[in-house]
Amino acid sequence: MLKQTKLLFFIFSIFLINIFAEEQMYGTNPNLPTIVIITTGGTIAEKTDPKTNASIPAKGTDFVKSVPKLLDIANVKVIEFANIDSSQMTPQIWSKLSKTVDNALKDRKIMGAIITHGTDTMAEGSYFLDLTLKTDKPVVFTGAMRNASSPFSDGPFNLLNAVYQVISKDAKNFGVTVTLNSYINSSRDVVKKNTTNPQTFTSGEKGYLGYIFEGNVYRINDRLYIQKFPIPKKLPKIYIFQDFAGAGPEIIRYMADIGADAIVIESLGAGNVNAAVFEGIEYALKKGIIIINTSVVAHGFVFPIYGDKGGGETLKKAGVIFSRFLRADKARLLAMLAIPYVNGDLSKLQEVFDLP
Ligand code: ASP
Repeated sequence: MLKQTKLLFFIFSIFLINIFAEEQMYGTNPNLPTIVIITTGGTIAEKTDPKTNASIPAKGTDFVKSVPKLLDIANVKVIEFANIDSSQMTPQIWSKLSKTVDNALKDRKIMGAIITHGTDTMAEGSYFLDLTLKTDKPVVFTGAMRNASSPFSDGPFNLLNAVYQVISKDAKNFGVTVTLNSYINSSRDVVKKNTTNPQTFTSGEKGYLGYIFEGNVYRINDRLYIQKFPIPKKLPKIYIFQDFAGAGPEIIRYMADIGADAIVIESLGAGNVNAAVFEGIEYALKKGIIIINTSVVAHGFVFPIYGDKGGGETLKKAGVIFSRFLRADKARLLAMLAIPYVNGDLSKLQEVFDLP
């Protein structure tokens, strides 16, 4: 019975995602490059409902038509993949999106892809695709902080810039980027920093990859580290625990008891937890659960420095993996792909997480 319910749910979720998979071609100028825009939803695809004043999904392709200049610079194929708020995204949906992008880019005429996506989980989604895409064509995530009904809507501007980036010769080998408000961010380093302001995405101490102005891409940095993994049949179950002053071991124990394959710990400072949390970690480690240590602090590396109970050095000795640079949300995604890949070899797993 349980199996049947699971199967039905699986078929239903495939249907939910596929239901939107419409394709449409805009522009057929043989002298222009062709790109693909894959829409997934988010504020860029929303309008304000005059009755409720709430932001609601508009037709996915409407905003493409709202940028007429777009067809002066490229022919555009639009694939409507989904139309959801990005808070509803999951690694399973991103797995499917990744395959859709690779498939679309097999077409030799298509120079690159733009993925329109809600900004709330764009940093995660873009990184998941960065880790899993096989293509080496440019792939740009963009979105908007103000919907299409706003007089200050930023969607059309962002979309146009994303097209300029995809067709530019100055924006090669960036991996998957998050491009909003003229700034090009590496999906690996990008963080959403403001809840409502259009200048929300930054790359912290790593710096932006580039800046787009009046159709030109100004390259600022090169993308140094790109890792690739196959998408496993089943993604491991990974939870995140955030340490805080006075935290106890019970939540980590609970995560261990409900079948976590791994737990990412957002520890304090350079990678330390308090003694009670350390007891929870020891409990999980004894059950064979992989523990990955990162930090609540926004910038800097995580190092094993302190030798007290729960200090970084103690965690290291206990067998905890250190996510040197990636913070919890992205460390979790990397672990989802890397754990099946290393197949039990924890020193290999540590190497995956050693990258700056
Ligand atoms: N809640 C929206 C989303 O992430 C926010 C946005 O797109 O800016 O889908």
